[in-house]
Amino acid sequence: MSGSALYETFARAPLTFERGEGCWLESPSGERYLDFAGGIAVNSLGHAHPHLVAALTEQAQKLWHVSNLYEIPNQRRLAERLVANSFADKVFFTNSGAEALECAIKTARRYHYAKGHGERFRTITFEGAFHGRTLATIAAGGQAKYLEGFGPKADGFDQVAFGDVDAAEALIGPETAAILVEPVQGEGGIRVFPATGLRRLRELCDKHDLLLMFDEVQCGVGRTGKLFAYEWTGIEPDVMAIAKGIGGGFPMGACLATDEAAAAMTPGVHGTTFGGNPLAMAVGNAVLDVVLADGFLDEVNRKALLFKQGLAAIADESPEIVDEIRGTGLLLGIKCRVPNTKISAALRDQHLLTVPAGDNVIRLLPPLIVSDDEIREGLSRIRAGVRAVADETQAAEPRQARA
Ligand SMILES: *Cc1c(COP(=O)(O)O)cnc(C)c1O
Repeated sequence: MSGSALYETFARAPLTFERGEGCWLESPSGERYLDFAGGIAVNSLGHAHPHLVAALTEQAQKLWHVSNLYEIPNQRRLAERLVANSFADKVFFTNSGAEALECAIKTARRYHYAKGHGERFRTITFEGAFHGRTLATIAAGGQAKYLEGFGPKADGFDQVAFGDVDAAEALIGPETAAILVEPVQGEGGIRVFPATGLRRLRELCDKHDLLLMFDEVQCGVGRTGKLFAYEWTGIEPDVMAIAKGIGGGFPMGACLATDEAAAAMTPGVHGTTFGGNPLAMAVGNAVLDVVLADGFLDEVNRKALLFKQGLAAIADESPEIVDEIRGTGLLLGIKCRVPNTKISAALRDQHLLTVPAGDNVIRLLPPLIVSDDEIREGLSRIRAGVRAVADETQAAEPRQARA
């Protein structure tokens, strides 16, 4: 046996954490790290948030699991709250983002099937997309590195360049069922899909009776300063997948849909053993208690601005390292001029955790409860890490002129 008994699928950093509180993680030896990775946008309320801990432990003492053979009152309640605060009329709960996307894709195919158009099963997606790691969602994401070696790519996904609405329009044919897009690409490199483009996609979907499906697994649940990122655009999708932040660290996801889009998802058509389980529902409701509280999202927006301004200053100071600052809300990215893994390692040396993304970007995903002081602390660590890489780069190439 080589290495550990685990599949070797993850390139893990040599770090272990034993406990967390708010934006901080602590190693077994007591070293503290400022966590701006947030479990990849999952720990929306940081670590060990008292309200989430209370909700989970209280539920754990009552009931863990009954299956969807029975009514689950907290599931109904969370669905009602998501519906009350979004475009949606219906919710299906899952355990992960990819499963929420699978439900979305099935919803779109079934929508057309029920109208007598089973031939309409294709979904248009955008380059750089990430929709998960199941066989259908790697086909939807279309990234070669995730498809390679897994047999024929699942049929039914067509991809166009990021943001290219004209190309999407040109691809619409008699088999097209839906358009699927992340309002802000996370894994793809914190790329904001222009709102004008999303509005045009809405028009195209209306014109051709396609379902417009948003993947807000990463950008949803307060991350951009609204409960959902689409709220910035003035339009609404027909179907939307969420996950990550809604569980605050407990595995859960959801597919939201309008009545019309979900009408063909009738009894027996789709299912899940664990989705909507009482533990997950207790935590999901607790996350919403906090995120929907008066003024919470205003604070996210205020802090996001503070953070982004500080990052812009660092970009100005070190143009040879930082190409640009991207993103919106607390979903920010540093586009690097040196390999992003080098920067993330330098930041880790400063005890600041971040996440590399595509397009040579470093993702900054602090918990939404981050304080002003923690933002300032994070900025000073980023400044120090960027300087360290700049010094190292200069030492290695002394005669290279500044870009
Ligand atoms: C993480 C992510 C997914 C997949 O979620 P899993 O829970 O890992 O299955 C899908 N879409 C987006 C935008 C994501 O960020």
